[in-house]
Amino acid sequence: MEIQFLGTGAGQPSKSRNVSSLALKLLDEINEVWLFDCGEGTQNQILETSIRPRKVSKIFITHLHGDHIFGLPGFLSSRAFQANEEQTDLEIYGPVGIKSFVLTSLRVSGSRLPYKIHFHEFDEGSLGKIMETDKFTVYAEALDHTIFCVGYRVMQKDLEGTLDADKLKAAGVPFGPLFGQVKNGQDVTLEDGTKIIAADYISAPRPGKIITILGDTRKTNASVRLAVNADVLVHESTYGKGDEKIARKHGHSTNMQAAEVAREAGAKRLLLNHISARFLSKDVSQLRKDAATVFEKVHVVKDLEEVEI
Ligand SMILES: [Zn+2]
Repeated sequence: MEIQFLGTGAGQPSKSRNVSSLALKLLDEINEVWLFDCGEGTQNQILETSIRPRKVSKIFITHLHGDHIFGLPGFLSSRAFQANEEQTDLEIYGPVGIKSFVLTSLRVSGSRLPYKIHFHEFDEGSLGKIMETDKFTVYAEALDHTIFCVGYRVMQKDLEGTLDADKLKAAGVPFGPLFGQVKNGQDVTLEDGTKIIAADYISAPRPGKIITILGDTRKTNASVRLAVNADVLVHESTYGKGDEKIARKHGHSTNMQAAEVAREAGAKRLLLNHISARFLSKDVSQLRKDAATVFEKVHVVKDLEEVEI
């Protein structure tokens, strides 16, 4: 799986950074792409990638500020114009109000979609596990911003062990039904009396990945809880070192606070986004260097950058 950043800027688009959106690409796992936030111009950014809008099956919204949702009507409408492609339903998860925003913009613009949208709205009282399939579970928890805003914890379920077919062949097991039995975890006895213990040929289950994607927030314990042992934590860094006071005032975090969250949570990697246009490229490398004094595995992401998880 990969995360591709579609917009990494804060508040308004700049020449180098569009407003918030990222794609969690789960093509190998479930042949789907999940979007997190959809700022204005997200559909244009998607044109620069190999992402096919029809593959976007779920959209998770962190909060209702414009730089995180104004791209929805455009994206949803364009998703309908996929000639010769099957129209698949879409799920949208987000704070109460997201349904009214989407339906109002579609209605007043006379847009009719040939696919269904299923809305899953939540408020402070209905957070926790918000989605579960056989492969993934998604949790949401309230953060600390100027309006209701959440962070998401995406947990992949543990992956079953895989069969070592070469080893099994080398042990003299003929390809066929016996092979299948071992694959299903059954011990078998060969014609010559050799006992084959299935567990010797199947690798141990692998733990699923944990991906934490936060919306805008001040430093809060909720971020730490969402990011415990995460393989990747995506955290905003609207401000830099020394700006803690103004960050607090505006409901945001500094790079140092994001690094503290990653360290306290025991996350494996930290990716900083929601970067203010005030930071030029020299300042951006300073953002990383300063944060690395607190949490070493940190990186400031760019628009369209893809990160393997
Ligand atoms: Zn915001």
